[in-house]
Amino acid sequence: MYQNDSTTNRAIGCTVNECKYHCQNEQYCTLQHIQVGKCEPSATSCQCTECASFEKKM
Ligand code: SF4
Repeated sequence: MYQNDSTTNRAIGCTVNECKYHCQNEQYCTLQHIQVGKCEPSATSCQCTECASFEKKM
């Protein structure tokens, strides 16, 4: 299901199209705000960070 373009947040680029908040037709998030977190106690590289707002698309 495609989100309405008016909900696309072009300030948050994202390629995780498995997420229910992904715009789908473009590489953006539809949320107004996301939370970025760490996968490790102390981040040392990009791989240690994550979008904590991710939710699996049904
Ligand atoms: S919530 Fe995070 S993972 Fe999901 S579309 Fe937005 S930025 Fe991407």
